[in-house]
Amino acid sequence: MQKYIDIHSHLNLEPLNADHEGVIARMVENNVSTITIGVDYETSKQAIKIANKYDFVWAGVGLHPTDNTNEIFNIEKYEILAQDKKVVCVGECGLDYFRGADENIKEKQKEIFKKHIELAIKMKKPLMIHARPSKGSMDAYEDALDILENYKKEHGSILSGNFHFFVGDINIAKRAMNIDFTMSFDGPITFTSDYDEVIRFLPLEYIMSETDAPFAAPVPYRGKTCEPYMVCEIVKAIARIKELPENEVAEAIIKNAKRVFSV
Ligand SMILES: [Zn+2]
Repeated sequence: MQKYIDIHSHLNLEPLNADHEGVIARMVENNVSTITIGVDYETSKQAIKIANKYDFVWAGVGLHPTDNTNEIFNIEKYEILAQDKKVVCVGECGLDYFRGADENIKEKQKEIFKKHIELAIKMKKPLMIHARPSKGSMDAYEDALDILENYKKEHGSILSGNFHFFVGDINIAKRAMNIDFTMSFDGPITFTSDYDEVIRFLPLEYIMSETDAPFAAPVPYRGKTCEPYMVCEIVKAIARIKELPENEVAEAIIKNAKRVFSV
């Protein structure tokens, strides 16, 4: 097992997809493992292909909420993908209202999100959730949690997961913890203090580290293509914000990832 885990990367997207060997070599050098995440059917298939080449890479399969205009979500096709032993989560899936979403768009996103939830329950695999609210609100989180809380009543501990690239406030974090979902943090925590309060609030057992590579490189790599090995900087930032030893945070996150994703 590696020392660090980046629970949400896209080795299946360019430019990382063109340089697996380089990306993997830098992960090995830095003791980093990763879960690489599909955003549609083709990239989900590619994530599985990559995960099956490397022991310390796993995959997620799903349709990103802003990619659902190019593809009709076919749950049967995703179910076949989700059966692969290296698939450790369903997603990324969820709700994205950031660029403005009218009622029709919201309804469509919710419908596809529910199908992902049902697939995750059926496969007994956790969800990798993308929730991005409109500016100055928590709307996408509130809607996602309303839906999840309902399923939780019926399915209990079979329903689990993580809110990726978490930008929610303490109230949202409390609701997520209440249904036993974890939250993962990215590059921005290394260059803004906007997330310090929620990170200080959250017990370590609910925190995960990720890069969302190739997006959102942390300090000191800003302006470069983000890669999973940079997740060390996320762990460092969490340790600084929580005033804990870095090793303790790294170990706790590995434990969390094992608990939630069985990696
Ligand atoms: Zn992503």
